[in-house]
Amino acid sequence: MTIPNLVQPVLASRGIGPALLYVAIALLVTPACEPTAGPVPRLSPKAHVFQLEPHARYRLEYATAPEPSPPGTEWTGDALDGSPLAYMMRRPLILKADDFGSPFGDIDVAFIDAVDAADGVVALGIVTALIAEDDATRTAYRALNAGGFELWFHGHTHTLGDVAEFSGSGLASQMDSFARGITAGRERLGVEFHSFGAPGNGFDADTMTALTTFPQLVVWFFGAAEAPVFVLPRLIDLESKVGVVRDVEEFSGLVEQTLAANPTAPITLQLHPRMWTHADLDRARTAIASLYDRGLRPAAPFELWAWRQEAARVRLFKETARSYILDLSQVELRLRVTVDPAGPTPVRVTEVD
Ligand SMILES: [Zn+2]
Repeated sequence: MTIPNLVQPVLASRGIGPALLYVAIALLVTPACEPTAGPVPRLSPKAHVFQLEPHARYRLEYATAPEPSPPGTEWTGDALDGSPLAYMMRRPLILKADDFGSPFGDIDVAFIDAVDAADGVVALGIVTALIAEDDATRTAYRALNAGGFELWFHGHTHTLGDVAEFSGSGLASQMDSFARGITAGRERLGVEFHSFGAPGNGFDADTMTALTTFPQLVVWFFGAAEAPVFVLPRLIDLESKVGVVRDVEEFSGLVEQTLAANPTAPITLQLHPRMWTHADLDRARTAIASLYDRGLRPAAPFELWAWRQEAARVRLFKETARSYILDLSQVELRLRVTVDPAGPTPVRVTEVD
């Protein structure tokens, strides 16, 4: 079986034939009263991204030898330097984009498309009470999630202020928000949330109790350091205030300091593209491209958590000069594996017995 890359379901609607068919079906099934969907982002094919199943073994074949070690060489997932999967050892860059769920605007689409074109991913924070009613928008969100642009839970009501959704509201109310949000994610988007970031990053002592009641939530953006989940720290801001992207030079200086002071920590940038002007978008594109150019690896929170859980059980064995066995037989979770988009990229990845 040849492994389709992640975004095949999206691609299927990009060819001329399927696209026309899609339009024809949409015309037939869309009731006249349905609100018209605006623009939606569409991900492009990614030859360097693989969604791999647990308890399986894969053969990776290259057109030319990607590295010089002798056949028989073995690596594990937490020591891949020198292997064709060394890219997985790079420092992760997570783009935490807040306040999604409603129909996309032009700048949202331009931002998502630009990051995708740069071989990156965006993690989209969903405000679940605001999830769009129209099928085209919901389908686009589902496709983004399937393509690695993880949808995460950013509150149900997104209430801010003295009594915010996750601060000062009490344990019962916070539990209710998580329950409603998770249900809405399932029922309206067909997505199981695994990551959480509070509206305004406001939380209190009840939040950790409430959060840990929902064991599928394993990542907390900017959460309490003592929480028994994977807490992504806030080390640097690309926005100088909510919705305003910093000057590129100024950000570049902050990057130097932050990377030096935190040699291995994942970098998470909080973004509000729905509030941006075109000038903000241009600055953000430049800043994000510069981080990818510095070697940071695009990642989404849940896939990063899963990789960290499983890395020690991932084994890579060099079979011949141009082929490798990636052994996930001891792995329990689905993994998203990326190789360096700058190449070399496997010409074929197939499951083996
Ligand atoms: Zn927000």
